[in-house]
Amino acid sequence: MVFSGGQDSTTCLYWAKNKFERVVALSFLYGQKHQQEVEYAAAIARKAGVEFHVKDVSFIGKLGQNALTDSSMAMDQEKPADNVPNTFVPGRNLFFLSIAAVFARELGIRHLVTGVSQTDFSGYPDCRDSFIKSLNVTLNLALDDEFVIHTPLMWIDKAATWALADQLGVLDIIRHETITCYNGIPGDGCGHCPACKLRREGYEKYLAEKSNQK
Ligand code: ZN
Repeated sequence: MVFSGGQDSTTCLYWAKNKFERVVALSFLYGQKHQQEVEYAAAIARKAGVEFHVKDVSFIGKLGQNALTDSSMAMDQEKPADNVPNTFVPGRNLFFLSIAAVFARELGIRHLVTGVSQTDFSGYPDCRDSFIKSLNVTLNLALDDEFVIHTPLMWIDKAATWALADQLGVLDIIRHETITCYNGIPGDGCGHCPACKLRREGYEKYLAEKSNQK
């Protein structure tokens, strides 16, 4: 399980716990400004009773310029019309999943889980289903193995991700203990960065849908 301690990957962590006997969470130090997210991730994994590991791959943040690892850059608040947002860390999911596959292989694990979503992909090319499918084939060829990459959130939006958390009985844990905010504030976050906006709008939409169903 590629695990950041955010809303999406924490929802996937509990999804994986439901589905598999053994879950191993893997977090990365990739030079992110808010390294404390790894501590939140560790705490969530501990509470969930899941094995937790951290790999330091800080070089990734320095390979390509981006606003999540470079303190001197201001984050794009919206997706630019002609480009990916500057919060895109080039190669991140490619590196993370490749490292996770090698690590999983050592542990005798074939199933990889990631919280990427094409629905809310914000223009990040490495969150798309075609990329994941292509990487799955590549990893199998590269390692002569039969990995299955699971993407429980690929085709659902943030509201449906909250619904899934609720179904799994972990809505409050996700709401209060995960960290999604680009400014490094846990729970409801700073409220105004793009990640907080997406998260809050999804939550409000889910609550509205839930009360309509009653
Ligand atoms: Zn925020």
